[in-house]
This record gives sequence, structure tokens and C-alpha cells, in this order.
Amino acid sequence: MTTAWDAIVIGAGHNGLVCAAYLARAGKKVLVLERRDIVGGAAVSEEIAPGYRASTASYLISLLLPDVERELELARHGYQVLPRNPSSFTPLPDGRSLLMGPDAELNRREIARFSARDADAYPRYEAWLTRIAEALEPVLEDIPPELLPLPANLRRRGFLEQWRNLRRALRFHRSLKTLGDDLPTALELLTGPATPILERWFESAALRATLATDAIIGAMAPPSAAGTGYVLLHHVMGVAGGARGVWGYVEGGMGALSAALRRSAEHAGVTIRTGAPVAQIEHIGGRALAVRLASGERIAAPRIVSNATPAVTFLQLLGADALPAAFRAAAERIDYSSAVMKINLALSELPDFSCRPGKDAVGPQHRGTIHISPTLDYIERAYADARLGEPSREPVVELTLPTSVDRTLAPPGHHIAQLFVQYAPYRLAEGNWDERAEAFAERCIDAVGAYAPNFRASVLHRQVLSPLELERRFALTGGNIFHGAMPLHQLFGFRPVPGWGDYRTPLRGLYLCGAGAHPGGGVSGAPGRNAARVLLQDS
Ligand SMILES: Cc1cc2nc3c(=O)[nH]c(=O)nc-3n(C[C@H](O)[C@H](O)[C@H](O)COP(=O)(O)OP(=O)(O)OC[C@H]3O[C@@H](n4cnc5c(N)ncnc54)[C@H](O)[C@@H]3O)c2cc1C
Repeated sequence: MTTAWDAIVIGAGHNGLVCAAYLARAGKKVLVLERRDIVGGAAVSEEIAPGYRASTASYLISLLLPDVERELELARHGYQVLPRNPSSFTPLPDGRSLLMGPDAELNRREIARFSARDADAYPRYEAWLTRIAEALEPVLEDIPPELLPLPANLRRRGFLEQWRNLRRALRFHRSLKTLGDDLPTALELLTGPATPILERWFESAALRATLATDAIIGAMAPPSAAGTGYVLLHHVMGVAGGARGVWGYVEGGMGALSAALRRSAEHAGVTIRTGAPVAQIEHIGGRALAVRLASGERIAAPRIVSNATPAVTFLQLLGADALPAAFRAAAERIDYSSAVMKINLALSELPDFSCRPGKDAVGPQHRGTIHISPTLDYIERAYADARLGEPSREPVVELTLPTSVDRTLAPPGHHIAQLFVQYAPYRLAEGNWDERAEAFAERCIDAVGAYAPNFRASVLHRQVLSPLELERRFALTGGNIFHGAMPLHQLFGFRPVPGWGDYRTPLRGLYLCGAGAHPGGGVSGAPGRNAARVLLQDS
């Protein structure tokens, strides 16, 4: 059968664009179909009020693979990172505060105000995390090996595939070997809870809580839960923000990265159609062969790559008979539990923090992520409410002011505030998010206002994205920002389901290229790049 396209990519999230660009650069004719009117998925900049643009969903860059940036020539296509220094500010109820960032001397000085012991330990902690991150980076950037004796009804591999898998397993083993003496603590970090690790390293409540926020991002779990150590590690893997673990802004917001990816993909020959939701993946004899759009239009291609979540791909776009029962049952078990809400605000002035006054000029307290989460107990309590189906009475808020370094987003003197909020459980015990989102947003604004009294009055416009709204707007199943939670049993060769970590699916010709595949969520481009490699191997 001849078709106009070698491959169709469903979804123009950043991973879909990355995948399409690599395929086109390898000479494939690629069509990308996006349901929304703009590309980028969860990496977009949108106007929240006339003259005010925010990164509506993701807002900080760090995980983007340097290879993706270089190979797709993103700088040439307009991508630019604005580093943040300091990168974190934690105001405290007792009037003190903690500033941290890429400057080692600043960190030492700031932490020493709380504990001389912690100031001494912090560089060693950073060095330890860096060693583990560097040892595991090749594993995370590679196609993951399958290490389990899986039953044949889940995955059967041909000889060539077994051989490739063996080579991946050896590379995996080699990476682990480079951990040396760090292996036992790395294992704890990969599988265990973050809290005991942070409590062993540090005694200061403010420092523990500031670092713990990285361990709960996107998770419906408190830092005392197993698996949060990995989330902590995941968030120090990247260097795209200017230094390891230091997150930067993209000039023009996250949409500017997607715009650069779009230009790179189109330059390589990719065709992108927006406003083109795919309603169905058609298949025959165990092979995917076409997509049908919601409009009824049918487009055929020998390879179909889905950037949508595994739930959308396997349970919505395919009929119940399309996949082997064991695979479908595993796909139905994927955990999408999530508790993220995003609030984007247009401000008439900068927040004036009581513990570090100043609103007429950008100060160090405005540049980084502002953590409203003073202690580990505060975070645990915030989670405990959500566990019972209630939005936190005292929410954990990460506030960013991208206009502190990027003047392209708001009129002169005005600012954009982005509140990444936890815990807002997708499943509420009472009522629904359409009724309750605004009241919870009020609570979050008050949580910031407790430290910056002018905050509430400075809000000119607001956009409130509850977990339900994140699902509707971005097609994020369950509102989960990572296309699926990231506990160990949903990582590496187990993502999206055990045995299928290599971007293939039981339907020949159908691949996954989004965050629901290894190495998971975040704006990394890794699933898109790896999926393209696998598809090209199969071509
Ligand atoms: C509120 C929020 C804050 C975040 N903050 C950060 C951050 O600061 N830094 C960071 O690194 N990560 C962050 N993340 C996570 C990160 O944004 C995501 O994990 C990542 O962008 C996922 O990229 P993706 O390309 O795999 O999928 P997506 O971005 O979800 O893209 C999938 C695309 O597929 C499209 N699609 C779905 N179904 C169909 C269909 N049937 N037909 C056609 N198109 C379809 C969607 O519209 C979408 O465009 C955040 C996410 C959220 C939601």
C-alpha cells in the first residue's frame, strides 16, 4: 500500500514535535495532527488577558536534552534560556527567609543563617546528587532495557529484539557500576521516600522543606512516601537551565520552545495541522494503518506515533478488541493520580515580601521559585487533606514571576505570576472542580498574601486551571502533568506498562512518543527522540 505519508504523529506536544523533526531529518514524510489550535501541548505560552502572556502549563526549563537542543538547532530557531539567579526563595512565618541558587557562596551564607552544619553539608549533598544524576543520565536518555522474565502474553520478542535488549541491559549495568560506593544510597533515592534522606542530610526545617518540593512535583504523594526520592532525582537531572538542577525560563515562555521546535520540524519538511483531533486509530490484522479525524477524514500511513497519553491512545482511540487482553488490562491499571492546579495571574506590581521588602525594582527574592511551604510537616498536612479528597487547607504553592527576567510577557511595570499548586486532588470528596476551583484559587492567593500583603490587590486578571481543566484543555488524563504517575513500577521498562518500555506497542506500526513513555514527564524531548530512533530501526 502506498500512502502520502511515512508516519503520522498524533499530537504536537513538544515530544510529538521532537519525534516528527527527527523522523523528517531521516528522510521520512511526516504529518503531525494536533487537536488544539496551537502546538506545544503542555509547553505553550498563551494570552491570559490582553497584553499579558503566561506559560499556561509548564513554565520552567531544565530537563531538555542538550542533544535535542543541538541536533534540532533550536537556538537558530529562536529558543533562548534566561537563567535564574537566585533560583529559589522561601519566606518563613517567623520573618526569616532562605535564598538559594547556582551561587555556592550565596547558598553557604544563606543556609548558615539557619545551621552551620547544613551549610557545610549542602555542597556534599549537591555533589552526591550530581554523581548519581550523571551516572543515571545515560540510562534515562537511552531506550530502557527489559530486565524481567515477562509472560509471553505480555511481550514476545524476536531474536534481534532480544539481542538489542541484552545490549541495553549491559549498558544499564555499566551505568549502575559507575555509581561505585554511591550505589546503596542511590538505590534508596531511586525507590524510597525523600523525607528520611533529607532529614539525614540536614537539620534546618526551612532547607528540608525547600528541597522537598522537588520530590513532590506532580505527585499525589507526600515526601514521606516511597517513590518521592525518584521524583527528587528526576528534577535535578537536567542542565538546560544553565546549571544542574537550576531551572531557567524560556524567553517568551514555554511556547517559545515549542515554536522553535515547530520551526525546526517544518524546516526539516514536517507538515503540521492544528485543529485536527484524531478520533480513532484504524488497524487490521494486528497492524495500525490509518487515523480517522473527528471530522471523519481518514489519513493512512504505515507508522503512527502517538504523543497522547497512554489512556487516550490505548483506551480511547482504539477499540476494546485492538490490543491483547493482558496489555489492555495493564493499560487500564496505569496510575494517573494527580493533584496539581495552575493559576496564572496578571499583576499590577511585584509582590512586596514582608521578610524582604521591595516592589519597585526586581530583587533577588523575585527571580527564583518562591516556595510557600515552610516545613515538611506543612507539606504532609497539605497532602493529608488531599488524601481525603479535599484541596489543601494550607496549599503548597510554587510561585514564579517570569517577568522578573523576561520583559516580553507583560506591559512595562506589570508582571505575570504563575502559581503551581499542590495538593488539589483530581477526585474531590464533595462537589466538583467547576464549582470549587475559584474558592481554592482564593485560598492560594491568600497563602502568598500571608507573606506579601500587597499580593491580592495587585491581581488584575486570573486564569485558574483546576486538575479537571488541565485534563480538558491539554488532554492530560486525570490532570496528571506527566502522562502518568512516576513510582518505580511505572518507570524505565515498566512505562507505560511492563515489557513495553521501548516505545513500541502490541499493534505493529503504532508507537508512543510522549511523556507516558520512558523517561516520563517534564519538558525533556527524550521520549520523542527515543521513539524516533526505534521507529527508524523498524523502517
Ligand atoms: C501545570 C503544569 C506545569 C508543569 N510544569 C513543568 C515545568 O515547569 N517544567 C517541566 O519540565 N515540565 C513541567 N510540566 C510537565 C510537562 O509540561 C509535561 O510532562 C510535558 O510537556 C509533556 O509533553 P508531551 O509532549 O509528552 O505531551 P503533551 O505536552 O501533553 O502533548 C500531547 C499533545 O497531544 C495532543 N493530543 C492529545 N490527544 C489528541 C488527539 N486525539 N488528537 C490530536 N492531538 C491530540 C494534545 O493536545 C497535546 O498537544 C508541567 C505540566 C503541567 C500540566
